[in-house]
Amino acid sequence: MEAWSGRIRAAPFPEGSFSPEGSFRCLWRFGAGAWQGRIPTIPVARSVTAASSAPFGSTAPAAGSFDFDVIVIGAGYGGFDAAKHAAEHGLRVAIVESRDMGGTCVNRGCVPSKALLAASGRVRELADAEHLAGFGIHAAPVRFERQKIADHARQLVETIRTNLTKTVERSGAKILRGKGRLDGPQRVVVRESGGGVERPYTARDVIIATGSDPFVPPGIETDGRTVFTSDEAVDLEWLPRWIAIVGSGYIGLEFADVYTALGCEVTMIEALDRVMPTFDPDIAKIAARNLIDSRDIDARAGVLAQSIKPGCPVQIELVDMKTREPVETLEVDAVLVATGRVPVSQDLNLASVGVATNRGFIPVDDTLQVLASSEPGAAPIPHLWAVGDVTGKMMLAHTAAAQGTVAVENILGHPRRIDYRSIPAATFTHPEISSVGLSEADAKALAAEQGFELGVVRSYFKANSKALAELESDGLMKLLFNKASGEVLGAHLYGLHAADLIQEIANAVARRQGVVQLAQEVHTHPTLSEVVEVAYKQAALAVAG
Ligand SMILES: Cc1cc2nc3c(=O)[nH]c(=O)nc-3n(C[C@H](O)[C@H](O)[C@H](O)COP(=O)(O)OP(=O)(O)OC[C@H]3O[C@@H](n4cnc5c(N)ncnc54)[C@H](O)[C@@H]3O)c2cc1C
Repeated sequence: MEAWSGRIRAAPFPEGSFSPEGSFRCLWRFGAGAWQGRIPTIPVARSVTAASSAPFGSTAPAAGSFDFDVIVIGAGYGGFDAAKHAAEHGLRVAIVESRDMGGTCVNRGCVPSKALLAASGRVRELADAEHLAGFGIHAAPVRFERQKIADHARQLVETIRTNLTKTVERSGAKILRGKGRLDGPQRVVVRESGGGVERPYTARDVIIATGSDPFVPPGIETDGRTVFTSDEAVDLEWLPRWIAIVGSGYIGLEFADVYTALGCEVTMIEALDRVMPTFDPDIAKIAARNLIDSRDIDARAGVLAQSIKPGCPVQIELVDMKTREPVETLEVDAVLVATGRVPVSQDLNLASVGVATNRGFIPVDDTLQVLASSEPGAAPIPHLWAVGDVTGKMMLAHTAAAQGTVAVENILGHPRRIDYRSIPAATFTHPEISSVGLSEADAKALAAEQGFELGVVRSYFKANSKALAELESDGLMKLLFNKASGEVLGAHLYGLHAADLIQEIANAVARRQGVVQLAQEVHTHPTLSEVVEVAYKQAALAVAG
């Protein structure tokens, strides 16, 4: 059982130095838990069965002779929503999955990471003596059990995976366990899990939903224990005293939140000029002050982790991003590599249908139909669709799910296009960060192109009664709008429950609503939603004026 109290502990070892206990620091918290590596590759053996008598790789099957109306390859959120929606609308559906039902989000992403954030967030709250004292509360030192926190995440994964699998089965879709690939138009071959038997199938429409894997840059070696990606971090196998997190995107930030709450020191390494480079600069500034500067985090921007060698200690060679001159060698207990994700498309045999990917991402149009390439004017491939991370568009679970539904609507003959502008994004740190719509730079470019004046207003949590009552008044909302028409173009938030607050603005963006109308909508008092109301009212004045 680990125990600690108080907000921020002094760093026990100077940054970049080698601790005399380094070698055992790495080992003593591994615990006896079984280590799970990647799923082994399945041996290949071909056996054509009665599922279809069509030869592999031939031309499209004759109309009406398909094994299924729709075959979905990949059962992450994209594939799941597509399969369910198609089956619920009477189509004969098969969904192929080579690993765990639910894909990244359920097994290695949103679900376990949010469970860890929920538990570690409680620890942070109870350990924040200063914050509690503001309410006149004095708690005992906080104790937590790492294993139980890990178990909470694992059990949640199991529950959600089981529920999702049952939902697919209940919808009538057939689950095919194995690895799918294309074999020409309207043909899919599934190499079954376990035996390696290959079975060909035909389908009128095929939806690719194979998702993404963590990206590990060249020079970085992972061993899954001392140098790992989010795939392993979600297991919370041990708590390194000092962990370096490479990357300050949302995954790096969320794990920094978890680790610092549980008493680890973090060094955050960001190759670009500033930490949190993908966030709105104003939001990043205020968020970094709270989520990084005030915590046990040493953040370095403009440095590249050129080489990382696993072991005890883990060795990291840092070089200047621009000059590539050596900066420092760090020796830490562990490294989390959070440098983005790469599409899973290399084994799909896309060449058999004439598709050229863009760095592995499958090109699609806004109906989610696959295009021959990402070149302008590229031809759509009949009966082939792709959804989710493998398309590289806003790599989020709810985007994947929305794309899955849109693809199926189009298959059903109900023309629909996806509206990426209205899809919100959130980072579940404490407090949260969220956004929807255009960035300020893109909004400025749009304003210049279309000849309107861009409106920007800011609304602060420190003026909100609910935030003040919670003693959590650090927060900002930035609203971008067209000053002529009032149309909401985007919003960026940092503050308590920002992930929930963004939905209201996302709905307004989806409906292309204007701030004058939105400013008339009454918000409950006292709630954080009044932060949004204040922004709408300021913006409405700017439009009227
Ligand atoms: C740590 C972390 C936290 C995250 N948190 C959030 C969050 O809070 N909110 C959010 O919206 N998003 C979050 N995401 C992103 C989210 O998980 C992904 O955007 C989402 O899972 C993408 O869904 P998908 O269906 O495209 O692909 P995946 O979920 O990756 O699913 C693809 C599936 O296809 C299977 N597959 C691949 N190839 C084949 C094949 N040839 N044959 C058969 N099956 C195959 C894979 O095994 C996998 O199960 C997080 C991601 C990570 C890593």
